[in-house]
Amino acid sequence: MATILLIAVAVFVLRSTRLPNLLSTNQNTTVLAAEAPTQAAPRPTAVATLPPFVAAKVSRAISRSITLHTDVPDRPRTKVIKYTVQRGDTIFGIAEKFGLKPETILWANYDVLADDPHRLTPGQKLNILPVDGTYYQWHKGDNLTVVAKFFGVKPEDIINYPANNLPPDTDRQHPNIKPGTWLIIPGGHRSFVNWSAPVITRKNPAVAKILGPGFCGEIYEGPVGTGTFIWPTTLHYLSGYDYSPAINHYGIDIAGKLGYPVYAVDSGVVVYAGWNNWGYGNVVVIDHGNGWQSLYAHLSRILVKCGQGVAQGDMIGAIGSTGRSTGPHLHFELMNTKYGRVNPWDFLPGK
Ligand SMILES: [Zn+2]
Repeated sequence: MATILLIAVAVFVLRSTRLPNLLSTNQNTTVLAAEAPTQAAPRPTAVATLPPFVAAKVSRAISRSITLHTDVPDRPRTKVIKYTVQRGDTIFGIAEKFGLKPETILWANYDVLADDPHRLTPGQKLNILPVDGTYYQWHKGDNLTVVAKFFGVKPEDIINYPANNLPPDTDRQHPNIKPGTWLIIPGGHRSFVNWSAPVITRKNPAVAKILGPGFCGEIYEGPVGTGTFIWPTTLHYLSGYDYSPAINHYGIDIAGKLGYPVYAVDSGVVVYAGWNNWGYGNVVVIDHGNGWQSLYAHLSRILVKCGQGVAQGDMIGAIGSTGRSTGPHLHFELMNTKYGRVNPWDFLPGK
C-alpha cells in the first residue's frame, strides 16, 4: 500500500514538474511574439489612448503569425507533426527547434534514420513527437505491459496520453489496438541500435564479417601499440558531429579536405580494411594489441591491407566522403575492450 502511495506521489510530482516546463516554454513564445511585432507594425493611435490593454491585444493577434515561422505552438502540442529536413540541419538543431531532446528525434524516426545521425539528409520527412519519448508501431499480439516495460514507462502513461486515443479501461494484456497503429510513449526511452563496428581485435577479426567486405580473416601477430595516441589528421578540429552518446555518435568527425592524409594513431595491425555496409564507406580498423582499437571511416583511399602491421604515424589512407557522409571529413573512433567507445578528445594529445 505504501509503495502504491509512493508511486502515486512520484507520478504526481513528475506531472506537476513537467507541466510548468511546458507552460514556461509557452510564456517565452508569447514574450517573443509580443516584442518582435510591435516594432514591425506599431499602432500609434491605439497605443496612445489605451496602452496596456491594446498592447496585450496586439501581442496575442501577432503571436499566431509568428507561430508559423517558429514551429513552437502557442498551446502544448499533442499530435505528431512532420518536419522536412533542411540543408544544414543537425539532430541537435532540429531537437532544439521543437524543444525536444536529440534522442527523441532519433527514437521517433527509426525507419528513416536507423539510429544513425549521419543518415540525416535534406528532404527527409521526420516525425516530431509532441513530448520527449519514443514512438512505437503496434504489432499483432503485442501486450501493453510488455511494450511499456520495454520503454521504461507504465502502461497508464501510454493509455492516458490523449493523442493515443485509448479508453482508460484498455486491457493491458489484450488491448483492442489495431496493428499498425503508432503510439506515443511519453517519457519512453530505449537503447540505440548499434550500427557501428563491434570491437574487432586481432584475435577475433571475423566478428567484423557483418560490417561488409572489408572484414579480415585470421590474424596471428603484429606490432603492439605504445598506449598513447597521435592525431590521425593534419587538422585538429571538428567538422560535423562531436562525440555524443545522446545521438548514438561514438566518434568525432574531424575536418579535412579530400585526399588529406590519415595516419595510424598508434602502432598495430589492420583488422578491417575495405567497404563497410552500414554507412561508414571505406573503413580501416587497427587493433593496437593492448586493448585499444582505432577506426577511420569515409576514406577516399585505403593504403593498407588486412593483417598488415603499421607503425604510429604511418599514412593508412586519405580523407574522403564515402558511405553516408555529407562532405569530406574523417569519422574517427577509439575503442577499448574494457571501456567501449571512448571520447577521443580524452585521449588525443592537445591541439
Ligand atoms: Zn561521424
